[in-house]
Amino acid sequence: MAVASLELFVVGAGPAYTDRLGATGAAYLIRSATTTILLDLGQGSFPRLAAEVDPTELDAIIISHLHPDHFVDLVALRHYLRYGLATPGRMRVMAPAGLAGRLDALHAEPGFTSVALDCGNLAEGTLTIGELSVAARLVTHTAESYAFRVALPGAANGLVYSGDCGRAADLAPLIRPGDTLLSEVSFGPGPVPPGAQHLDGPAVGELASMTGTGQVLLTHLQMGFDRDATIASVRGRFAGPVRIVDPGDRIEF
Ligand SMILES: [Zn+2]
Repeated sequence: MAVASLELFVVGAGPAYTDRLGATGAAYLIRSATTTILLDLGQGSFPRLAAEVDPTELDAIIISHLHPDHFVDLVALRHYLRYGLATPGRMRVMAPAGLAGRLDALHAEPGFTSVALDCGNLAEGTLTIGELSVAARLVTHTAESYAFRVALPGAANGLVYSGDCGRAADLAPLIRPGDTLLSEVSFGPGPVPPGAQHLDGPAVGELASMTGTGQVLLTHLQMGFDRDATIASVRGRFAGPVRIVDPGDRIEF
């Protein structure tokens, strides 16, 4: 009997800006046998999304917070749904309050978003999308920023995605022993400068160790930080597998 599992396809893993070619904004595709969701859709990630999957086959898109490096390619998706199909399509998008207004303002066109995107407001708690359960929890970053745990019902392990997060302890309640932790590590080996609401490797390592995380996938590393030193800073505190993910990576868990 096949074991039910989830696949993560990294569409984009970039931070807000980078000199790393192809390191487009945050976008993570999660698939089960029957359900496909996308977490975030940051700058430049639409092409890789569309090359991997027919965007109309997504069951929903979930946006962690309203920083453009996590949502701005919804503009490209909106245009694709409106103009790229024989019959215009629609997409369900769950996000913090205000997303449609942000996109409308970007285009200076009221109703720009609602033509193709059905935006719903996220709240803390668990959503069911297809066969996947998605638990959302507020984290320290913007006024309304979420981290998520995605899992198949009844499965022991799932994927926890940090979004952008300024306090590692905010993620702990989402993580079950053995889970895969996809975490931002904006400031590499650290330290995080005062006032920056992001994480560094030591904070991620401590969190992973404390929660019994199964494996750590690092992402959202800012320009100028050394990758090996970043991984080492997590390994200094966590004994399990640690890697940095890049666009095109495919991980089953
Ligand atoms: Zn952010």
